[in-house]
Amino acid sequence: MKCIECGDELLAERAELGFEYCTKKECQAARHRGLTVTAIGVNKSADVYLVADQAEITRRGESGEFGKKNAGLGIDSCRPVVPPAPRHPPEPRTRPRPARPTRPAWTPQQARVVRLYHEMGLSPRQIVERARANTPRLGLTETLVVKILSSPR
Ligand SMILES: [Zn+2]
Repeated sequence: MKCIECGDELLAERAELGFEYCTKKECQAARHRGLTVTAIGVNKSADVYLVADQAEITRRGESGEFGKKNAGLGIDSCRPVVPPAPRHPPEPRTRPRPARPTRPAWTPQQARVVRLYHEMGLSPRQIVERARANTPRLGLTETLVVKILSSPR
């Protein structure tokens, strides 16, 4: 779209509003024909601008077409609508992953028995055999015994 007065590029928003001319004073003055731009409260988030002559707007407004918000704006006060600058998506935070709390995968009872047997000089395999015989409910395995013994107290 080009301004029909000066030939300058017309803002897309302005063209969408129905203007054929730009916002320069000369072009405004040359093209001003008593049209009224009315902001119509169509919904809460965006106004729709209507370009029509005042009589038409009044008629349509009286028929309840526009809803409550029906403010007649002088055409010279209708500035081009500048879209908000595109927001860059926020940089992903380079935050170190929270270290998982190293919670032991065994119970204090298991650790106590394992360490006890270990101090008696038993190997992990022997510890498991002894534990199975004496405290089977602890469910000790050799892997777990090794883990317990290799963990700091
Ligand atoms: Zn112009």
